[in-house]
Amino acid sequence: MSAISEVPAPRRDVRDARGDFPILREQVHGRPLVYLDSGASAQKPRQVIDAISRFYETGYSNVHRGVHALSQRATVAYEAARAKVAGLLNARRVEEIVFVRGTTEGLNLVAQSWGRANLGPGDEVVVTEMEHHSGIVPWQLVCEATGATLVAMRLDARGAIAEGEIARCIGPKTKMVSVIHVSNALGTVNPVHEIAAAARAVGALVMVDGAQAVPHMAVDVQALDCDFYVFSGHKLYGPTGIGALWGRYELLATMPPWQGGGDMIERVSFAGTTYAAPPARFEAGTPDIAGAVGLAAAIDYVWSFGYEAIAAYEHELLAYGTEILARVPGLRIIGTAPGKAAILSIHVDGVHPHDLGTILDMDGVAVRVGHHCAQPVMDAFGVSATTRASLAIYNDRSDLDRLAAALEKAIGLLR
Ligand SMILES: *Cc1c(COP(=O)(O)O)cnc(C)c1O
Repeated sequence: MSAISEVPAPRRDVRDARGDFPILREQVHGRPLVYLDSGASAQKPRQVIDAISRFYETGYSNVHRGVHALSQRATVAYEAARAKVAGLLNARRVEEIVFVRGTTEGLNLVAQSWGRANLGPGDEVVVTEMEHHSGIVPWQLVCEATGATLVAMRLDARGAIAEGEIARCIGPKTKMVSVIHVSNALGTVNPVHEIAAAARAVGALVMVDGAQAVPHMAVDVQALDCDFYVFSGHKLYGPTGIGALWGRYELLATMPPWQGGGDMIERVSFAGTTYAAPPARFEAGTPDIAGAVGLAAAIDYVWSFGYEAIAAYEHELLAYGTEILARVPGLRIIGTAPGKAAILSIHVDGVHPHDLGTILDMDGVAVRVGHHCAQPVMDAFGVSATTRASLAIYNDRSDLDRLAAALEKAIGLLR
């Protein structure tokens, strides 16, 4: 195993990021692209694209299998990526990082492996009303299978967990609290540390969906005091098909495998099979090797600016966007929790988000319309969908000016 990567000192200005993204030079319907859908997936910088090409051209082979030079080279690159992720999350050990397809797979892994072994009738799994569907449905499936009950903490009008809900929902029956770190529909940043303290007090575990956190803020799983943390590479400027699950080693070591196959065993025979130690136990089959290399390049890329600068830049942009959108008549922002992250969820009375999104697209402005895989959030706000602009380091004020102008025009046409 490689040693955990140390976070290097930042060396670039975040305002130079935009030039690193070749796709931002594309035209859409004859207009320069304004990409405001990074919450669904972020675009890729040249540094990540090149790292993946370079790996396929000079270092590619399967991992953990061969004695030949290329297999060793690929294994070194794959394990170095694991060490990089361990550094990103401040894990205690590199072996605490399990590569998965993404956030969805990580949540399913814990629900199926830990959940099936540890949940039963009378037990409760606590989530929030603002979870992404991938933070709800895996727990529903395991609750159906085990007889456990799913409980949701309610939201207030700003889109934060309502006062008193942590104490109301987390109690002696609670075995697992699974919460979204940053809401993809609202931008709300949840008080994970406070939730973890409430969970600890009743002996429950805490799982965190970090899909919208790692692109925007430094994450330290030891400081958060959670037990599992998961994110997707593709929202962090990395490739699709790769993400990582962090789990406390002592917990991972007690968990049964959830998929069987090559690479996850110690010894196989028809009399019985014994399993490898974590993380290999949870990585059956050939992994997304090039994806891991791309993810490592994405982490290096983010570190080249530093999270402090990224967060400051995005908060400044968010404040600017909030201010200019407030001047668009008839428009309301859903999700106004203090300290929220770079997401602007827009509601316009009497206008369907789908029509709004279509007109914005004609203007070259890419936003998300729909329920954002968070239908319970939409229910909580009494809307069926919103128009979501989500920000990344490559956006600037001109993108938000184009958004505001396109929205004003679209609302004029549609109302
Ligand atoms: C995107 C997202 C997910 C799902 O991630 P996948 O990469 O599709 O597995 C889960 N939670 C949140 C908060 C997300 O934004």
